[in-house]
Amino acid sequence: MSHLLIRGWRKWAAVVLIAVAVPLISGSSASNGTETYDLVIANGRVMDPESGLDAVRNVGIRGAKIMAISSSRLEGKQTIDAQGLVVAPGFIDLHEHGQEPRNYQFQAHDGVTTSLELEVGTADVDQWYARREGKSLINFGVSVGHIPVRMKVMKDAGTFLPVGDAARRQATPAELQQINDDIENGLRRGALAVGMGINYTAAATHDEIVDVFRLAAKYGASVHVHLRHAGLQEPTTGLVGIEEVIAAAAATGAPLHVVHITSMGLKNTPRLITMVKGARASGIDVTTECYPYTAGSTQLESAIFDPGWQDRQGITFKDIQWTKTGERLTAESFEKYRKEGGTVVIFSIPEEAARTAIADPLIMIASDGMPLTGTKIHPRGQATFSRVLGHYVREERALDLMTALRKMTLMPAQRLEKRAPMFKDKGRIRVGADADITVFDADRIIDKATYEEPLRYSEGIQFVLVNGVAVVKDGQLVDGVFPGRAARAPISQ
Ligand SMILES: [Zn+2]
Repeated sequence: MSHLLIRGWRKWAAVVLIAVAVPLISGSSASNGTETYDLVIANGRVMDPESGLDAVRNVGIRGAKIMAISSSRLEGKQTIDAQGLVVAPGFIDLHEHGQEPRNYQFQAHDGVTTSLELEVGTADVDQWYARREGKSLINFGVSVGHIPVRMKVMKDAGTFLPVGDAARRQATPAELQQINDDIENGLRRGALAVGMGINYTAAATHDEIVDVFRLAAKYGASVHVHLRHAGLQEPTTGLVGIEEVIAAAAATGAPLHVVHITSMGLKNTPRLITMVKGARASGIDVTTECYPYTAGSTQLESAIFDPGWQDRQGITFKDIQWTKTGERLTAESFEKYRKEGGTVVIFSIPEEAARTAIADPLIMIASDGMPLTGTKIHPRGQATFSRVLGHYVREERALDLMTALRKMTLMPAQRLEKRAPMFKDKGRIRVGADADITVFDADRIIDKATYEEPLRYSEGIQFVLVNGVAVVKDGQLVDGVFPGRAARAPISQ
């Protein structure tokens, strides 16, 4: 009884203390005008795709969080003058293979605050995160990848994509069991999604693919798929490829995300988009993404260039660029470099297909950026987001600014937030959201990286904050800061 009384008294005393404390705090802040934030972004045009807010506001940040959005003046220990600039949620890239410090510098300059490798992914989720923890400029995350798991289980000699058994042989029952066990383990260890590239593991049976979808469904993880077919020729068209995975999603309940729909559909991209929309209208959780370019990029030694590739893809040797030198290929150099192994750029996507996807409000923007293995690599990893905002929004008027921002902030966050609830606080300018913020000049933002000069920073992105810390200031990289954090699903074991 007395114990209860004491507890009751304590509770009452606490209420009094709070009641006293609150007026004290507000009293003291009233005396110097306002509350002080760590950082204030003042007078910018705040654009939030979730609420639809598009107005001049001041944003107050404390620690790693947005704490105030106000039309009145806010007091900050530091202030960024954003007059005339757009203040947007930091861009979330669902698809970036380059996950090294130098890639993060290029991505920060392109407005990206969260860089995710969800297509190829990893076979070792713990190690992947451990390597980047505390050392990263921007936030980072990964899927457990069917490709690297299959390579590990089947002892394929490839480094990034399969070159041997993982591409060309059916798995034995014992290998299939191991592939499923490794994928399930990755999901338990907090992988954001499951990655698949069926075109690169072409000998994987339809059964093997459906089993992976079933596992993803069990963990509420989306499957990010490079389709089995990307060609124009029956029966290996992009349409057939998308049929396989829409069926797998429908039959298992796993959410499906089709990567780079333009390089899958080529001139038939609108037909693939129609399939995605039709599946969604029938209640299947399907999303997709594209990059703003008319070329793809991959490894020359991969199964994509197995005999018959010219007819399948509707291209020939001269449409392929060797990234180490920039030269276009011939029959001879194709043979030589395919044996050597390395990255190529493939000019195969019609501009009309690219533009259709970029302008479509349903289709997210993701870079598919590549590791920096040559001086003539694809520019997409360095410049995708500023190219959409500068070239397609401002110069071409293919879509409006808010729609474009939604496709690179809110939509990718929503794609992942059921599996990884931390994404509910990303992709938004909202009180309580993570202070991942990109401030840019809408009149000046533009990509500078090209196929000839791919290692150039984008322009017009003035400030980039990651968890409240500036990584780009006045258009320049900030040295020696590592505010990037793991973007990861809850660990279930
Ligand atoms: Zn791909």
